[in-house]
Amino acid sequence: MNSGKTMKKKMIFPFVYGAQYYRAPTPEPEYWEGDFAHMRELGFDTVKFWVQWRWSERVPGVYYWDDLDELMRLAERFGLRVILNLICDVMPVWAEQKYPDCRMIDRNGQPVPTEAVLCRQLGGYPGPCYNHPAMQEVRQEFFRAALEHFNAFPALLAWDVWNEPEHHLARRSAADPDHMLCYCPHCERKFREWLEARSPSIDALNQRWGRCYSAFAEVELPRNAQTVADFIDWRMFQLDTLTGEAEWRLDLVREIAPHTFPHLHVVPHTIHCFNSVNCVDDFALAERCELFGSSMMGDPLFAAAASSAAGGRPFYNAEWHINFGSSAMHPRVIDRETFLRELLPQLGWNVRGILYWQFRPETLGFESPAWGVIRPDGSDRPVSRWAKEFRQVLEPHLPQLMRSRRRNPACAILKSVRNELFFNAFPQEKGNWLYRSIRGYADTLLDCNIPFRFLSSEQLEREELDGVRLLILPAAHCLSQREADAADRFCRRGGVVFAEGSVGGYESDTGRYSTRVPGCGLAERWGIRETDSTSPFHLDCSGSVSGTSSMAEGDVAKALDSAGAKGGEYLPLSSPSGETGWGALLLSSLESESGETLASYRNIPCVVKLRRESGTVFYCGTYLGIAAAEQSADFLAGLLEQAADAAGIERPAVPKGIRLTPLYSDREQPTFHIAENVTEHPLTISFSNTCLDLFGGSSGRTFRLAPRSAALFAE
Ligand SMILES: [Zn+2]
Repeated sequence: MNSGKTMKKKMIFPFVYGAQYYRAPTPEPEYWEGDFAHMRELGFDTVKFWVQWRWSERVPGVYYWDDLDELMRLAERFGLRVILNLICDVMPVWAEQKYPDCRMIDRNGQPVPTEAVLCRQLGGYPGPCYNHPAMQEVRQEFFRAALEHFNAFPALLAWDVWNEPEHHLARRSAADPDHMLCYCPHCERKFREWLEARSPSIDALNQRWGRCYSAFAEVELPRNAQTVADFIDWRMFQLDTLTGEAEWRLDLVREIAPHTFPHLHVVPHTIHCFNSVNCVDDFALAERCELFGSSMMGDPLFAAAASSAAGGRPFYNAEWHINFGSSAMHPRVIDRETFLRELLPQLGWNVRGILYWQFRPETLGFESPAWGVIRPDGSDRPVSRWAKEFRQVLEPHLPQLMRSRRRNPACAILKSVRNELFFNAFPQEKGNWLYRSIRGYADTLLDCNIPFRFLSSEQLEREELDGVRLLILPAAHCLSQREADAADRFCRRGGVVFAEGSVGGYESDTGRYSTRVPGCGLAERWGIRETDSTSPFHLDCSGSVSGTSSMAEGDVAKALDSAGAKGGEYLPLSSPSGETGWGALLLSSLESESGETLASYRNIPCVVKLRRESGTVFYCGTYLGIAAAEQSADFLAGLLEQAADAAGIERPAVPKGIRLTPLYSDREQPTFHIAENVTEHPLTISFSNTCLDLFGGSSGRTFRLAPRSAALFAE
């Protein structure tokens, strides 16, 4: 029985619909009233303002809130709720003058200059090092003052404490080690403390890193990825630094403004979904939030990554970048089909709220004149009409939508931060190998209508598998012992593991390449072994692949030339029944006690299926994900369908080319269906119950889907 006295009232985050509006100094005050009236006219109910450190604390301890106060009052008058976004990466001039040692330092010892950039027009970007103790205190004082001040405004709905966390937006490249931060004395000291807290002794660290330090005080900061173990530790430390920064910000909201939904929003893994150089761990950040937000573009991988990190938390699109552009590339004129095609699938990823980035287009700097829902002169663009229609059509269905979710997918793709860091040492010419592989798996699963989510290493290690029956380990070269143990137990209990690459070839606990692959004891437990491994560049694949470059450098390139290799990145495969397909970047010949060969390269078995107690392992000695993304996905699709069948995962009976996501009520009743036709020709979809096509207007059981379109059906 509920006790009214002890029950804390549960806050429910509403469906927010609106736009980012103010990052000082634009838009100027003369636009505010007219724009807020215009927002209401479009059906918007929420608006976001930036609270920028440099702008609002120009003198230490003296706060300028006049503009934001006026905006808060106006928002209330127009019936708009407000999300305030804290922006600390614009450091005040006085703060830098007071603490000249606060700048981040790159690996060459050069301080990172603070400057104005296109999306931080006030200057002071990227702000101080997150490990500078005095700067953390002044940041905290500023945020505390802001929290206390804005508590008085009834329009305040939520505090978003960090806009797209990362070290430096211009240093997102994993390919350039000069982009890595931060090598300041504060980071050096804290990293040594961090290591000491995690290593039983300096000898244990020496053993794992292959060094001969006599004390932690001697430990040097790793400067590249080539010795692996030290690099992984170094970046894990910086990942923890950014997570720690988020943690204190969220804690301050809980302390001072607990009614305002403490959260932040990410840009899922800084564009290349798996670039840990910028030190963002979406899962770790989400775990500390009450709800989770993400910036989003049309790519479903963004929604998949952020929605998986959000888990069961309320989740919204905190910046929909539909109106992207710059002075050099003016924004698209968006037709209705494009608008719906990019918006409706987000609902299938449990997005429950949309904030457009942004309402009024930029007029300051190189992001102008793009990003606006309206034109610079304030008139409606075509996209304004679609935005208004979306709200009107959805309105009567919102209560039901808010109670509906996609089912927790039974297929999970491992997303291991350590493995992402491991792959930083690999050639990056076409991007990170792990990212390329995951791209192939994600797109192929979507096309096969096998719903999936990402699972973090920590979730796998803690065996929080929560309904997973098919576990994909893409390019799983670097594994921890606990990850390997959990995957093995999952399999023996009846799960299906689909693993590719030199699985566990690098053991993160010992810091050593395994002498047997698969490593971490999986060779013995699964009764399978990679006898010889080679790169397809060494093979004579001439005639089967054209136009590939080896990406080899230096001595490797010279040796490859002199060996006269005719191979490339991709590897032709064939199945025993004569089907053909592609692998990539690796050929491991597999030897197994009881495995069934599913694919070979010239009679060398490199994809094998085997039973382990109640479960099944699909073991791939090549990167099928990369080949699927870059050559053809048909072969991988066939294997994944086999794996899904073995895992008992049902797939909807829809024509090839339709992606279908059903949503269910909390009573497990189907409520909505989101359907996408990703082909260039019309397709037909049928439902067992009568449905209403919300944006098409008709009802029935069978509907025609136009080429490259999306539709939302209500049961
Ligand atoms: Zn630092």
